[in-house]
Amino acid sequence: MSTQSVGNQRHRVVVIGSGFGGLFGTRHLRKADVDITLISKTSTHLFQPLLYQVATGILSTGEIAPATRLVLRKQKNAQVLLGDVHDIDLVNNTVTSRLLNRDTVTPFDSLIVATGAQQSYFGNDHFATFAPGMKTIDDALELRARILGSFEQAELATTQAERDRLMTFIVVGAGPTGVELAGQIAELADRTLDGTFRTIDPRDARVILLEGAGAVLGPMGPKLGAKAAKRLEKMGVEIQLNAMVTDVDAHGVVVKDADGSTRRIEATCKVWSAGVQASPLGKMIAERSDGTEVDRAGRVIVEPDLTVKGHPNVFVVGDLMSVPGVPGQAQGAIQGSTYAAKAIKAGLKGQTPEQRAPFKYFNKGSMATISRFDAVCQIGKIEFSGFLAWLAWLALHLYYLVGYRSRIVTVIGWFVSFLGRNRGQMAATEQWVFARLAIEEVQSDQADADELAAALGAPPGNNSKPARVREQQREVG
Ligand SMILES: Cc1cc2nc3c(=O)[nH]c(=O)nc-3n(C[C@H](O)[C@H](O)[C@H](O)COP(=O)(O)OP(=O)(O)OC[C@H]3O[C@@H](n4cnc5c(N)ncnc54)[C@H](O)[C@@H]3O)c2cc1C
Repeated sequence: MSTQSVGNQRHRVVVIGSGFGGLFGTRHLRKADVDITLISKTSTHLFQPLLYQVATGILSTGEIAPATRLVLRKQKNAQVLLGDVHDIDLVNNTVTSRLLNRDTVTPFDSLIVATGAQQSYFGNDHFATFAPGMKTIDDALELRARILGSFEQAELATTQAERDRLMTFIVVGAGPTGVELAGQIAELADRTLDGTFRTIDPRDARVILLEGAGAVLGPMGPKLGAKAAKRLEKMGVEIQLNAMVTDVDAHGVVVKDADGSTRRIEATCKVWSAGVQASPLGKMIAERSDGTEVDRAGRVIVEPDLTVKGHPNVFVVGDLMSVPGVPGQAQGAIQGSTYAAKAIKAGLKGQTPEQRAPFKYFNKGSMATISRFDAVCQIGKIEFSGFLAWLAWLALHLYYLVGYRSRIVTVIGWFVSFLGRNRGQMAATEQWVFARLAIEEVQSDQADADELAAALGAPPGNNSKPARVREQQREVG
């Protein structure tokens, strides 16, 4: 175990997470008289709203996920550490992160926790094996390989039933991510892949959007939801509402309809975008605070100044915080972390926690694309859709994309995809489909071995069955 030491007496801020909350909080402190350590288990700042475009071959990972280290190169008061935070000590004010076998302890005076949320399968985690979520770069690449791989297999299929199963794509959850994904899979099949196979016609692909509730884009209201549904249906997407997925396996899903009856849909490629669960660090912080609780999704019910009870120096922001009226969106994370950074700066000037004004969220609206040139947009009470909404979506996403180069390359990618039929990022490998499951297997072997070792009284960490993998980890580490 190593301890991060800071060689001077400046106020130490630790930021956990390099998403919207982590990065914007860190950048807001760039001129402050503090030393910042940003710790994240991913080495990039991921722009999640465009993940679906990586999954469907429009953008590359580099365009939506610049290396955090490069983004913060010029911010001399910030250091970036790669590591999975697994312990937060609110008594001694330290954070412990792990990279491979190495634990690093980083002390803090102020802490901003922005570790976001992950996919929720509502207690059915085994669904993930066959229906990956859409939260990480790995998810997007895996999905791209699954989508394109399904078409490749369909070209070789020997029976109609097999071909139909391979050319049916199921998206579970009709929120913005589900809507955007369904639209893009349909466009991929109809425009980009059209004419590229000889046995199958990609335009025959079925894209099915399953939603457990009664509407598409529920939180955006009935008018925009109906517009989005109409446009999707025009593109050939089959929308099935009040359809609860009760089981998922390699070859399909089981759906329970509103009348209680169940049916099965055969489909090889499934994607899950139906729910989120907060990062487990939320529960840990709440349990170690002086009475803070988490909500049903595991988000921390923070104080009005976004801190936890008894620890006015510990801020929880972004998708990990639970604040009434603040949605799990980029704006919530950016505004929350900016508020925390301002509170830290004010503290340096003598402001006490009691003097802090409560956090106020300013709702800048929400939007979702449906297809090229078509989106729905809600800003306050104003709702609009179509090309104008799509232009607004385009401008906003470009504005928030981090990095000058990312913006230019992204515009070129959009130009190629939206004006022409081609997509520039159609590479996919078998490894992308299987890597997640292989890693999970290795990790479960590790957990088994650690459990056995603990039962025998040995410390965990070096008892894994796949010794070859651990050997390699040691070499890399
Ligand atoms: C597919 C998709 C589409 C979306 N579309 C939109 C949209 O159109 N508009 C919109 O406003 N919002 C959208 N969102 C939501 C938006 O992306 C989130 O609200 C926002 O990213 C939350 O920011 P955050 O900083 O709280 O968390 P995140 O951005 O998720 O960042 C979490 C960070 O914490 C790190 N981390 C997690 N656990 C640990 C740990 N134990 N140790 C160290 N680091 C850790 C992660 O690596 C990551 O860097 C979308 C989300 C998804 C998934």
